Amino acid sequence: MTLDAGMFQPIVSDRLSDKAVGQIKALIKEGRLKPGDKLPSERALMKLLSVSRASLREAFRVLEALGLIEVRTGIGAFVVQTDAGALPAEWTALLTNTQQEMLELLDVREALEAKAAALAAQKASADDLQQCALTLSKMKGSADTNDVDGAIEADIEFHQLVSEMSQNNFLIELSDSISHALLDARYAFFRQPDRIYISWQQHCTVVEALERRDSRAAAEAMLQHLQDSKEVVKRLK
Ligand SMILES: [Zn+2]
Repeated sequence: MTLDAGMFQPIVSDRLSDKAVGQIKALIKEGRLKPGDKLPSERALMKLLSVSRASLREAFRVLEALGLIEVRTGIGAFVVQTDAGALPAEWTALLTNTQQEMLELLDVREALEAKAAALAAQKASADDLQQCALTLSKMKGSADTNDVDGAIEADIEFHQLVSEMSQNNFLIELSDSISHALLDARYAFFRQPDRIYISWQQHCTVVEALERRDSRAAAEAMLQHLQDSKEVVKRLK
């Protein structure tokens, strides 16, 4: 028997975590999990959802990125909000995002995230790059199925990962706040034709530079991605 590389299919290892995200999101949406509720322990949830610890942690990271839960180290995960109304007060006003505000926030993101990408190129671990690859395959999957929700999750995850890889806590906090403020904008953004696919390609360029440990190229690719996003926002009505 001869082996042919084509007989192997890449394993999409984030699928179980996606299902866990979907289930917990639905429980929050339906009001069966309310703000302040503590989720069952990690061990209990692994059993209830029948997922590995890695999948569960990935799910928690997505839910946290979406601002739905807060993981308090050593204590547990809590539901923080059911809608945008529970965002930090200083950002709530910006959630009505006028086009001008969206563009201003994207300017701030250019400054922060180009720097984050440059630092990430120097500091990324093999595990970080692996996580990046997962968000890329999730984004590609969303592009293929035109899944706007999935694209938003993958996009938030990707940008959060790059910030985290900078290992600069101030940068991480600032990027996180801005990301929350732009949640509504992302819905309008990813509904534009081909936008998920284009963003996926641009994310790939960033990750390729990170893999080469090329700070300058990583910063440049991130800048291009955000500047291109600004052009799209300018065309939104
Ligand atoms: Zn993006």
